[in-house]
Amino acid sequence: MLPLEDALAQMLNQLPFPTKTETLALTEAADRVCAEDVISPINVPSFDNSAMDGYAVRLADLQQSMTLSVAGKSFAGNPFQGEWVEQSAVRIMTGAMIPEGADAVVMQEDVTVNEDGSVTFSTLPKANQNIRRIGEDVKKGDVVLHQGDELNAVSLPLLASLGIPEVKAYPRLKVAVLSTGDELVPVGQPLQAGQIYDTNRFTVKLMLEKLNCDVLDFGILPDNQAEFEAAFVKAQAQADLVITSGGVSVGEADFTKTVLEKVGQVNFWKIAMKPGKPFAFGKLENAWFCGLPGNPVSALVTFYQLVQPAIAKLSGKKHPKKQPHFQAIAQTNLKKSPGRLDFQRGFYQINENGQLEVQPVGFQGSHLFSSFVKSNCFIRLEKDRGNVAAGEIVTIEPFNHLLGQ
Ligand code: AMP
Ligand code: MG
Repeated sequence: MLPLEDALAQMLNQLPFPTKTETLALTEAADRVCAEDVISPINVPSFDNSAMDGYAVRLADLQQSMTLSVAGKSFAGNPFQGEWVEQSAVRIMTGAMIPEGADAVVMQEDVTVNEDGSVTFSTLPKANQNIRRIGEDVKKGDVVLHQGDELNAVSLPLLASLGIPEVKAYPRLKVAVLSTGDELVPVGQPLQAGQIYDTNRFTVKLMLEKLNCDVLDFGILPDNQAEFEAAFVKAQAQADLVITSGGVSVGEADFTKTVLEKVGQVNFWKIAMKPGKPFAFGKLENAWFCGLPGNPVSALVTFYQLVQPAIAKLSGKKHPKKQPHFQAIAQTNLKKSPGRLDFQRGFYQINENGQLEVQPVGFQGSHLFSSFVKSNCFIRLEKDRGNVAAGEIVTIEPFNHLLGQ
């Protein structure tokens, strides 16, 4: 059996970053991946401005007298104009341009306004106090976003703040999805004896949508070689990636193998993970291929652990966020046999002592999808580990947005 890390490394090694790009308005670019290094055309701030509501002063004036007249106002968008006479301050608001020659801004709370309109300062301010300097945040020519960064609710507003109206991005990945199995029935139709509903296509489509992929739905394929082959030829011609579920486990693999060997080069793996185990990966003539196990929990977990990082690379993400792992105290005993990496479904929380603790949710049988509904993390039990006793430390992996967090 192949360790999960090795399977993932082999996949990421073979998969390429995209090459095609398109230029999009910022408003069209959400959840895409940036295809260029973006260089700031301006300084931010683009002029020295005040960090406070208060008074702009020259220290030389204050060394003469701590009471100054007020020469005028500088408001955001309306800079001070006119002559800044000696022994005076300029009333200034947050974000307003600093009048030329000012050394500091004194916040209004530290200033007394006298009856004659003059202002008295209690202490001598420090030079540069409350002044945001030109280019302090971003300098003209700085690389603000790198090729392979995500375009999202933080990076797109950054571009907007620099006045950049459009960005080069990678196209959305086209992913063909199909389920295999004579027993499968689409949701909405009555079940005959021995039939089950096709949940995997639904699960996979939902997760692909969250990954901003273009989904091509090829429906359910019966276990029939000719139909299988025809659908595969069509799917791989239209998509960048083809994802199937079912038909990769022992017994059925031969059948899928025969077809896939005709249209590409595919590895059929037994991955040392639970749920999971059977998984196929390879290259078809025009598209990449991932074959998920048919069991719905296994399909979900292998998609999450293997296909998700594969899609990140095919979409152009160079710096995908690492799934965070934490150490937590197991609240109950956990059943585990050595030999496979286990992804049990758990619910974690912080206890009254401020420690992370986790409990398993429901039955861990891989056919029991309902265990996911109440869980918020995977309990990741190492390959060689055996049973876990309550109180032992285990690794948890909180679910990301794919699983509804
Ligand atoms: P297979 O990998 O095709 O041998 O399928 C393994 C198990 O998963 C069998 O019990 C199948 O009936 C079930 N299964 C396969 N595909 C699906 C699907 N799309 N939705 C729900 N269950 C499935
Ligand atoms: Mg099947």
